[in-house]
Amino acid sequence: MLEDVVVIVGAGHAGVHAAVRLAAWPGRVVVIDEQSGETYERPPLSKDFLKAEGQGDASIPPLRKEQFFADKSIERVHGRVESIDRRAHLVHIAGGRSIAYTKLILAPGSAPRALRIPGGSLTGVHLLKTRDDAVALRDALRPGRRVVIVGAGYIGLEVAAAAAVIGCETTVLEYADRVMSRVTSHPVSAFFERLHTEHGTRFVFGAEVTAISGDGHVESVMTADGSSYPADVVVAGIGVVPNHHLAEAAGLDVRDGIIVDADSRTSDPDVYACGDATRLVDAEAGVDRRLESIQSAQAQATNAANSIMGSARGKDEVPWFWTIQHGVRLQTAGLRRPDDQIVLRGRFADGRCTVLYVRDGRLAALDTVGSLSDFTAGKKLIARATPIDVDAAADVSIKLGEAIPAPQTSTL
Ligand SMILES: Cc1cc2nc3c(=O)[nH]c(=O)nc-3n(C[C@H](O)[C@H](O)[C@H](O)COP(=O)(O)OP(=O)(O)OC[C@H]3O[C@@H](n4cnc5c(N)ncnc54)[C@H](O)[C@@H]3O)c2cc1C
Repeated sequence: MLEDVVVIVGAGHAGVHAAVRLAAWPGRVVVIDEQSGETYERPPLSKDFLKAEGQGDASIPPLRKEQFFADKSIERVHGRVESIDRRAHLVHIAGGRSIAYTKLILAPGSAPRALRIPGGSLTGVHLLKTRDDAVALRDALRPGRRVVIVGAGYIGLEVAAAAAVIGCETTVLEYADRVMSRVTSHPVSAFFERLHTEHGTRFVFGAEVTAISGDGHVESVMTADGSSYPADVVVAGIGVVPNHHLAEAAGLDVRDGIIVDADSRTSDPDVYACGDATRLVDAEAGVDRRLESIQSAQAQATNAANSIMGSARGKDEVPWFWTIQHGVRLQTAGLRRPDDQIVLRGRFADGRCTVLYVRDGRLAALDTVGSLSDFTAGKKLIARATPIDVDAAADVSIKLGEAIPAPQTSTL
């Protein structure tokens, strides 16, 4: 009988985590990635790495050392998977090689959205996704350079922080009316906008970037209102698109991401998918979402591996995310909705504040700025869907974990 083989496409956060979880699998595990060399962590690419001049790329931590894969007999293949033959259970790699699978895990991640405008591909326009992108951007960020960043999301702001510290003249052009508008509330946006402004970054909101001009190399960025911003370096931080094309071509269900269930299974029971490339749809739980975060990629990878190995599914984790800008750590747990009640705990002026998002009397999500204890306690309250006493939660003298209503005593 042929040996069971799990093939994993993508050696990023999701693919490697799935491989780690499958290390005890009795059959073969093969991880294929189009990028060569050691696997690596992405978060540092937009943070400290950009400020660490002249170190090559040696300071980017590997997800797992090559020795780990060798010790666990996990095979690593370098190549781009070009197509999947689901009937024959084969993946075809560029160059002609094919690998047979019993179960397939797709973890191809996402691609940064490019500036599809005139001049969008001029030299000096950067995207930030890979180790090579980060090295190129770091080499471009020099004191005195004029850096225009398009997009005030996590990536744009982390790059803005690095550029400002390096001594670049930094401008952020943002279509919305505040920073991180997609992911956080007004009070948190206002705090981070102030933090960046104090470090010299200029923001222009309501700015629709229409063109980039330059003779070979970028010289300025134009916006719809006719303004022009001189630039030596342009960075696009305008979101990502899921790499779902391989799955789509193979006939799997896809809708802005490969559709997966709570076990990370696609519309084909022998094919799983995890990470940025996926959209989790669980009608019973009322979930239909695409998340781009390491925590989510790893949780989905764990579910895929458990399902393949026949183990029970892990308990659902509260989604969470972090970013660091100018040394200030913002941690988010849960998924906020714009109509949630906002409760402030602490004061931003003290450099330590938590914003609670309350829905139907329960804590639905929170943002902590510099408060790890609130983050840990709040995450538990969210997971348990515990009713919360809003007045107590706003009082920093009461531990967040204890801000729950007193039990009702019966008068009968
Ligand atoms: C600069 C940066 C900073 C970030 N910071 C944070 C952070 O602070 N916190 C956080 O939670 N998240 C952060 N993220 C997001 C996080 O990195 C992603 O959510 C996570 O990497 C998703 O994991 P993944 O395995 O789905 O995709 P990736 O890690 O992107 O891995 C996908 C891999 O698949 C390979 N691949 C794609 N197609 C093929 C193919 N056809 N054949 C072979 N290989 C293929 C790719 O080359 C890649 O190596 C950051 C992302 C970036 C780019």
